[in-house]
Amino acid sequence: MTDPALNDGSAGAGDLRTAELAGRLEAVRRRIGVAAAAAGREDRLPTLIVVTKFHPVEDIRRLAALGVTDVGENRDQEAAGKAEILAECGLTWHFVGQLQTKKAKSVVRYASAVHSVDRPQLVDALAKAAHNERAAAGRAPLDCFIQVNLEDHADAGAHRGGAAPGDVLLLADRIAEAEGLRLAGVMAVAPLGAPPEPAFEKLAGVSARLVAQHPGAAAISAGMSQDLEAAIAFGATHLRIGSDILGSRPVVG
Ligand SMILES: *Cc1c(COP(=O)(O)O)cnc(C)c1O
Repeated sequence: MTDPALNDGSAGAGDLRTAELAGRLEAVRRRIGVAAAAAGREDRLPTLIVVTKFHPVEDIRRLAALGVTDVGENRDQEAAGKAEILAECGLTWHFVGQLQTKKAKSVVRYASAVHSVDRPQLVDALAKAAHNERAAAGRAPLDCFIQVNLEDHADAGAHRGGAAPGDVLLLADRIAEAEGLRLAGVMAVAPLGAPPEPAFEKLAGVSARLVAQHPGAAAISAGMSQDLEAAIAFGATHLRIGSDILGSRPVVG
């Protein structure tokens, strides 16, 4: 069965969908500009990662033509297929989904960054894969964001992955010691059904403690369609935006 998201329809750059994506992209960029100005950081705009999961490669091609440089995916099989088809677009691929260790070898081949590093076994699997798949080819180290669980109770039903805040420094040391990996910073998804501000404030605190030990690891990957303003207010350097640019995700049947 072929993955519908890998269908590469052909469409000219002037089609209706391109115009729609251009308008939505522009609206999101405007929101980012307003939020950055409010935070007094219009000179340090966060990196916009457009999360393209479930959307077809032709949409990613359109986005690339509209100036998007960074895309995010959360399933290895889909991401690997898209990255191969779109190799000539020169995009930077970010892996943002929960990752099984057995997929590490595949992910390091196309991804420049993994935003969901949350346990020692995954660090080790990524380090080994980066050594085997990237080092010989002279590729840059893999950027690793430590995903932090911001739920008040780790066993809450809405658990969306991530390391406990108290485990971040140990994971950071492990990443920093691995040759093929670069410790970039922290990542989080705001808890469902709660205001995002306290969560992003907590993430900023975790980031500050990390940076005290690892000054080069200042990145904060936070902010989705619903909460990008709150994330920027609390120092996000990387935004992961899907539905407000691409529309609702197609149902995969
Ligand atoms: C899907 C996804 C996003 C994008 O979410 P939207 O609400 O569509 O903007 C961001 N981060 C992660 C980890 C995701 O899985």
